[in-house]
Amino acid sequence: MDITTLSILFCNSQKKEIQKSNISGSCIFCSRETAEGWKVDKTVSNNFTAWSNLSDGQCACEYCYTMLKDPNCRRRSWAINPTEYIAIDKTNRKQILFNPPEPPFFIHLATSGQKQTWMGSFNKINYSKNKYIFTIESHGEVFWDIAIAKDYDKLILAGLEKKLTKTELTQVFKLKTYENAIKDNFLDLLKQIESCRRNRLWEVLVYAN
Ligand SMILES: [Zn+2]
Repeated sequence: MDITTLSILFCNSQKKEIQKSNISGSCIFCSRETAEGWKVDKTVSNNFTAWSNLSDGQCACEYCYTMLKDPNCRRRSWAINPTEYIAIDKTNRKQILFNPPEPPFFIHLATSGQKQTWMGSFNKINYSKNKYIFTIESHGEVFWDIAIAKDYDKLILAGLEKKLTKTELTQVFKLKTYENAIKDNFLDLLKQIESCRRNRLWEVLVYAN
């Protein structure tokens, strides 16, 4: 199987024209060896802050350069594989997480469109649709396990059905909710929800619902 990277997927999924230069070496973003790379200072701006995620290297390869020059890599949410770019918004984000594209694939969810939280994930392309790594701007890398996600989703839907807010699902219940739970007999549901909090996958699923 050919080794692929996040930037190769990102460019190929959109059939982008790859912008080539002439710097040789290994890429500081994805570690790929290239003879058609770019100087690093031509690739990132002066206010670039994600240096700690980068590898040793001499250049930015042509694929990482082309990806990083596209603001949509940061601003938008997407699911990508070698032939398909799926734009993600709030109407399809949960469905895509449960049904990702055919491997190899990668999924990124932007929340404010400011941070490139996949900067350390160039070599974390996924080959399983059931257990995989995706990134979300608010949390960074999150590990998806479909069995756990299904259990979480049932609890979240049950909570929303009882009129709990998303803040209650992730932080603390209102007094009124406890009163309702006693009256309508769903204290056990609150206990189960409580035990899932402070978990990235839980928080992302609450967001995605
Ligand atoms: Zn690269």
